[in-house]
Amino acid sequence: MSKRDYYEVLGVSKSASEGEIKKAYRKLAMKYHPDRNPDNTEAEDKFKEASEAYEVLSDAQKRAAYDQFGHAGLEGGGGGRGGFSGGGFGGFGDIFEDLFGGGGGFGGGRRGPQPGSDLQYELNITLEEAVAGTTVDIRIPTKEVCDACDGTGAQSSSDIETCDTCGGVGQVRMQQGFFAVNTTCPTCHGTGKKIKNPCKKCHGEGYVHDNKTLSVKIPAGVDTGDRIRLQGEGEAGEPGAPKGDLYVRVHVKEHKVFQRDGNTLYCEVPLSFAKAALGGEIDVPTLGGKASLKIPAGTQSGQRFKLSGKGVKSVRSSQTGDMVVRVHIETPVKLTGRQKELLEEFEESLQGKHHKQHSPKEHGWFDSVKSFFTGDDDKDSKDTKDGPWN
Ligand SMILES: [Zn+2]
Ligand SMILES: [Zn+2]
Repeated sequence: MSKRDYYEVLGVSKSASEGEIKKAYRKLAMKYHPDRNPDNTEAEDKFKEASEAYEVLSDAQKRAAYDQFGHAGLEGGGGGRGGFSGGGFGGFGDIFEDLFGGGGGFGGGRRGPQPGSDLQYELNITLEEAVAGTTVDIRIPTKEVCDACDGTGAQSSSDIETCDTCGGVGQVRMQQGFFAVNTTCPTCHGTGKKIKNPCKKCHGEGYVHDNKTLSVKIPAGVDTGDRIRLQGEGEAGEPGAPKGDLYVRVHVKEHKVFQRDGNTLYCEVPLSFAKAALGGEIDVPTLGGKASLKIPAGTQSGQRFKLSGKGVKSVRSSQTGDMVVRVHIETPVKLTGRQKELLEEFEESLQGKHHKQHSPKEHGWFDSVKSFFTGDDDKDSKDTKDGPWN
């Protein structure tokens, strides 16, 4: 079938301006659009013909090729990609939005090439790795534009035709009672194209899927929830659009000894009852090895000690956090007879006129219990304004 001259189709001169071409096409599109001419194949053909002509003449590059070589200039010549691949009927969305106002008209679904999706990789690392920084190899799925078909999904450019169902618009109009709605074309799934012989490498998808291994540098000081962005390592976009990014989201595993809150490290250290009473030095773990901690005489269970600069170096500043050691006093168990005797003797020694000064907590606690029973602390609860009954 020989094609009519595109200028003739649109009824414009060879020197027509962009605006004149657009105007001429609008007129024809309004007249022959399949929605306005149901079951009229002649109108449908006219519509397709006009759309094809507009597709070429509205694109400066394609128009130049057409002016020089005619229809042959658009088919598989030069760039390798046929005249109707890539952006497809790029001008449609604009035109119909202009004509019918807003996105409500037909063809609203057509848009420019979509950038690739971002990928997120969940990375589990140890606290030591998070604090010191590390390099990890991660294996990620890839989606690249198929190089065999340049993403068209067709064996050759002559295998790409306009979708019959939607006339290349990518959407069809469905009548439901009084309402007509646009839905994605069920035949071409919105691409507006029909592929006669799909590309053998990608089976018509236009993309190939694989895996790749990336070496990712994890900076020192990262914490759970931090994301490292690797620009352009995400999925491929539609031909002509940029790739997505890859985000590596850090999750720091729980540690047996340390808990982390921001740049502060916490750890609990057991302390013998005698050492707590007498005072002395103990070894405490830090991420850089052992450190010595001075325990004052009379240390109580739960008391905290700060080791400056033994925490985590911030990933965002040059500051280093502290480590907080909380001592947990151990009650001695499995005592021998002799040890029991000594403790009983010791307990007796605490009795007497000055017994209060040896157990600071106990007497404070007894005072609280006393005031609880006598109602002395009633006023405290009355002062509380944020109870559930307010
Ligand atoms: Zn392919
Ligand atoms: Zn279609």
